[in-house]
Amino acid sequence: MPCPEIFKISFKIANAIDDRSKLHKLPTSRIFLLAISFHKFIFKKYRARGYHLAQSCTKQVSIIFFKPFNFIKMKNSIVFNLLAAIAFISVLASCHKEESAPSTVYFSDEELAEIKESTCLTIMPDDFATTLDDTPPTGAIEERATGMKNKFWSPGSTLRVKFLGGNSTLQNKVMQYAEQWEQFANINFVKVTSGTAEIRVAFDAVGSFSYIGKDNLGIVANQKTMNLDLASPSTSEAYFKSTVIHEFGHALGLGHEQQSPLSSIPWNVPAVYAFYAQMGWPQQQVNQNVLNKYQWTQTQHTSHDAQSIMQYPVSASLTTNGFSIPMNTQLSATDKDFIGKIYSNQKIKVRHAANVSFAITFWLNGIYHTIQPGESLWVPAKTTGNQLSIWECPNGNCSWDGYAPPYGYNYKIVSQGSNGNLTLAYD
Ligand SMILES: [Zn+2]
Repeated sequence: MPCPEIFKISFKIANAIDDRSKLHKLPTSRIFLLAISFHKFIFKKYRARGYHLAQSCTKQVSIIFFKPFNFIKMKNSIVFNLLAAIAFISVLASCHKEESAPSTVYFSDEELAEIKESTCLTIMPDDFATTLDDTPPTGAIEERATGMKNKFWSPGSTLRVKFLGGNSTLQNKVMQYAEQWEQFANINFVKVTSGTAEIRVAFDAVGSFSYIGKDNLGIVANQKTMNLDLASPSTSEAYFKSTVIHEFGHALGLGHEQQSPLSSIPWNVPAVYAFYAQMGWPQQQVNQNVLNKYQWTQTQHTSHDAQSIMQYPVSASLTTNGFSIPMNTQLSATDKDFIGKIYSNQKIKVRHAANVSFAITFWLNGIYHTIQPGESLWVPAKTTGNQLSIWECPNGNCSWDGYAPPYGYNYKIVSQGSNGNLTLAYD
């Protein structure tokens, strides 16, 4: 029997018991402790069966199993407690994930479990990514990744990682996967056990998340900056690896790939809301972490990379045309290339010096950069063979204007005449 159906049955039983017990009382603390221990037992049982329920699901389970413990009010007796426990364990014991879901469940158990597992909550300011921005262009496509501009650490930085829990085996396994980024980025993660640390990792069962890049510096010193909900022994190695690499990608300044300004996932928006509602996410949270695209001015990005470790899996039932993306469990070729370029010292500086009040987007060797009036940006470049294009709209007709800037110089983008024509010049 699929688990969602079990939930419904359990609710019915729990409500029935609840109705009969209103006239009886028992010390609240005892009910609470029993409910918690029972809930933990059931949760472990579910995990052992391969469901790996997310925290939001835990809440549902909690509600279910709190209810029956009102049953205790009927009789202040350990026998009744045990009977209640046995009854619910028996119900859950019939739960098998192999069986098909009933038609009333929108997503299959396996689909739900898989997507829940690989969905993390990335903490960002509330006002971040609230604007859909579909402005510029589709240019050449060769590399794809999305970084949050001005949130990257300096190339060559050492980032100290302090664990706020977990045993050394667990901690070392996290470090081992986090260090995969070091093979491609000029960055160094160092585990510390005391003192200041830029990245502070907890293993609480509240879902996984991380602050983005240098935003970590704004978090109060004794608070976690990253949570890895991976402490359960039943966590699969693939999921463990995928989550650690993903969260440390955020810590390095990467955003969610599905929110790239050039992402064009044909979302079925009502279905997306319905799906994430099952995880307890309100629509605003879905907008912030799934649907809304980042603004061009906030990112440095390539074309959308469906293979990125920073991409959420996308079920075909969440799109309008059957488009889907599986759960990615390793760094994509573009993840490696992009993080290598961003954390390289091999860069040129480009400044917005045009006589226009709007931001300018330019493309350099596969990466789009957008600069505000007056803004300067160091961007990854080649020592030879640079290809740079500026998006410009002279007389309202927009197109890419190409250049081949030599390495080793600073550049500015300036107005040429008054019709909106832009050009690249030495600075
Ligand atoms: Zn994430």
